[in-house]
Amino acid sequence: MRVVVNTLYKSAISELKERLLEINDLARANDVLEWDQATYMPPGGAEGRARQMATIAKLVHARSSDPALGALLSQLQSHTGAPATDAADSNSDDAALIRVAQRDYDRATRIPTELMGEIANHIGRSYSAWAEARPKNDWATMRPYLEKTLELSRRYAECFPEAAHIADPLIDGSDEGMTVAIIRPIFAELRSFLAPLVQAIAAKPETDASCIFQHFPEAQQWAFGEAMIRDYGYDFNRGRQDKTHHPFMTRFNWGDCRITTRFNEDYLAEGLFATLHEAGHALYEMGIDRNLDGTPLGEGTSAGVHESQSRTWENVVGRSLPVWEHYYPKLQAAFPEQLGKVDLETYYHAINKVQPSLIRVEADEVTYNLHVIIRFELECELLEGTLSIADLPEAWHARYQEYLGVSAPNDTDGVLQDVHWYGGLIGGAFQGYTLGNIMAGQFNAAASQAIPDLADQWRQANFAPLHAWLSENIYRHGRKYTALDFIQRITGGPIQLAPYKEYLTNKYGAIYNL
Ligand code: ZN
Repeated sequence: MRVVVNTLYKSAISELKERLLEINDLARANDVLEWDQATYMPPGGAEGRARQMATIAKLVHARSSDPALGALLSQLQSHTGAPATDAADSNSDDAALIRVAQRDYDRATRIPTELMGEIANHIGRSYSAWAEARPKNDWATMRPYLEKTLELSRRYAECFPEAAHIADPLIDGSDEGMTVAIIRPIFAELRSFLAPLVQAIAAKPETDASCIFQHFPEAQQWAFGEAMIRDYGYDFNRGRQDKTHHPFMTRFNWGDCRITTRFNEDYLAEGLFATLHEAGHALYEMGIDRNLDGTPLGEGTSAGVHESQSRTWENVVGRSLPVWEHYYPKLQAAFPEQLGKVDLETYYHAINKVQPSLIRVEADEVTYNLHVIIRFELECELLEGTLSIADLPEAWHARYQEYLGVSAPNDTDGVLQDVHWYGGLIGGAFQGYTLGNIMAGQFNAAASQAIPDLADQWRQANFAPLHAWLSENIYRHGRKYTALDFIQRITGGPIQLAPYKEYLTNKYGAIYNL
């Protein structure tokens, strides 16, 4: 009998893997088209490319929600827990594959096809309208679009009636397991920690960051950034860097995880730290166990865990003093006229300057979280119905004044600032950025305990031990564990703010003599 069960199980699991591989290959092929669209495609290709990508997306959705896939998963679920199958071990790759494939299938089938179509159609038009309206400060045009987006976001969330909060299904889409009930208190605690820290820094003399606002030719910037990420462990045999308007990382398969960046010849930090940030995302993807490639387990587990890694390599490592003790003489050699007479401390303070500002993507490490908290709160209030779209621009300005002490003179840098609500649904789009910072605090505290001389290693550009620790504990597992699972496995407890607070207090206390 056991032999029969095993044979049935084996043929079902191999059929599952075949089906999932086909879905994966179609989706990654679409990613190649998207990468090309953002890097090298001539403008004339736009219309045909949009059609081709929509065709593939339709095929992916049809295969992802195929009832035959659902039936196969049900059959396999009945084997999980049965003895003598690989899936009986709940930590095995097969058990994780079945769990994650079931989750993806449930999410793909929960939303009626007509609603999916309506959303895709509306978002496409909303995005084009926003691209024109934002530079013209034209909120009036966008208001009806956003009202429709809010209605669609609610209808999407209502497909998950078991959710405790209306934003939860949207959050769960990018940060599995996270809920408003988990995030709200931790963001409130973070805000009450940051407010006095930002005030204390503002009371100090303003940092002179002019050294990084000089002319830095692109070719040297490019070479310097690539040399640094090569030291980090970014493998150029399995990746490459190109230029785009908005930097991103994309994984086509285990052997091809690419990054993009952008350069500003009058501001050194823009391109350099975009490269380090995207390389952090890529190190995560490159570190996933090769055996998981082509399956739903073969990618980073959530937006938050992904950001924890991009921010670790960009900020925790890339803006640290030990790292620049090693690299600053090299940077001076690359830019002798600009930096030859600037000392390390001046440069280190410049790249870590804290100043409340209007634009999220340009914000420093400390105030960045306040930008995210504002958006998260507004999203929840919109979905709850306690804030209307009509009142959103005012609420935006008021919250910026209250949390950051600054207010945009217009809506271009206010409510029209980010693409997220205009190129997607409202809800679930922002929390991952700050969850990532908080998780990075917990993960890096654990790494520092395991590897006590991390700073000395960074001083010698030796990143292999940190990279190996992160690979062992996080990267290699792909989606086998959720963010909350990783935190539990690594720290033995729940998500906690204390290590991140300690990191900010130590670093900025030293920089600003607090
Ligand atoms: Zn990122």
